[in-house]
Amino acid sequence: MVSADLIDRVLDRLDPAEVIELAAALVRINSVFDPEAGTSEQEAAGFVARWAERQGFAVLVEEAAPRRPNVIVTHEGSPGGKRTLMFEGHTDVVTAGDPAAWTHPPFAATIVGRRMYGRGANDTKGNLAAMLCAMAALRRAGVPLYGDILGGVLCDEEGAMTGVQDFIRRGHADRVSAAVICEPQDGLICTSQKGAVRARFTITGRMCHGAMPLSGLNPAPAVAEIIRGLQALEEEACRRLGRDPDLNWPSFTPTVIQAPPEGPAQLNVVPSRAVVLVDVRTIPRQSHPAIVAGLERLAAETRRRVREATLARDAELGVSRDPELGVDLEILSDRPCTQTDRGEPVVRAAAWATRAVTGREPVYGGVPGATDGTFLSAWKRIPIVTLGAGLREIPHQVDEWVDVDQLVETARIYALTALAYLGSPPP
Ligand SMILES: [Zn+2]
Repeated sequence: MVSADLIDRVLDRLDPAEVIELAAALVRINSVFDPEAGTSEQEAAGFVARWAERQGFAVLVEEAAPRRPNVIVTHEGSPGGKRTLMFEGHTDVVTAGDPAAWTHPPFAATIVGRRMYGRGANDTKGNLAAMLCAMAALRRAGVPLYGDILGGVLCDEEGAMTGVQDFIRRGHADRVSAAVICEPQDGLICTSQKGAVRARFTITGRMCHGAMPLSGLNPAPAVAEIIRGLQALEEEACRRLGRDPDLNWPSFTPTVIQAPPEGPAQLNVVPSRAVVLVDVRTIPRQSHPAIVAGLERLAAETRRRVREATLARDAELGVSRDPELGVDLEILSDRPCTQTDRGEPVVRAAAWATRAVTGREPVYGGVPGATDGTFLSAWKRIPIVTLGAGLREIPHQVDEWVDVDQLVETARIYALTALAYLGSPPP
């Protein structure tokens, strides 16, 4: 569908050294969002904006939040094109933790053999450099494109994803017909992403002396009840839905269990409150409203069961006390699962580009977590495909690294994906 001449024209303008240098320059900018340390995405975003302007792109910088800008880089295609392909990559990185734990300094972009080390090398500054160089190669080659390419260089992907939400609210996504999410998936073409429901159970009892536990009301039995209940919900979901070939099993994981939730914990004090945080990860065909309803039922059931158990035990012991325990549920975030049909033009373009660049048959997969693509898919129904260099378990670890050859290969795949998606007149 794309001539060999066009492919060569584009790939000839993609300089491998430029991809690696741009990735290294981005890694060297500490873009952890940390108001206390005074770091944010601002410097990395400014760097990208200046680089893109030098390439001749139209560049727009918009603050999604103070000191947290999105950069929107546009390459205009031939007039009359109807499609707009978005490449999305984020500028923020997670904390480096203790720098002393790193073999190579986290913000030095040290290259040893084929590996570039540094926070963000893998997730996702390497892929961000790859997408920008792919856009630059297409621009330099001057190939006719029947539509625009939009580079969304967004902030706050690792946090609340306010960057992509701001991008959508300002209307930029309205003209996007498909998106490539540039995240480390080790070359897999990912057409699905797990969803997530995060919730907090707060249990309220009454504080008392550990030597006289019947004078208060311990929240601990309710914590046990909730953990058992989450396990039952998970077992039920696994039985009913089975294992998703790309995303694995659904899960209901209690991650934080705290009593008391704040202030000093003391062995001889029954705390008045406890919290249980749960991280639910979903696969296609799981209804999020049904999950929320299940968690609400669990809260109500827990309160009823613990109350009954307390009354029964107190009757046995001849104790009289108020058995009413509070069990409140708060949904902290709700990100749907996404699935893109493998017949979508953007998926076919990525598959073709992978074959053309690597000579290998593409391998499909799913993203274990949510990405900015989740919002593009859920809010705007944009077909998304997630694709990029870097092993999938490496993000957020110490000594994060990416294979620089795979980065260059990824830049080529991005360029040819755009060429395949926009390179011929729409039918
Ligand atoms: Zn990422």
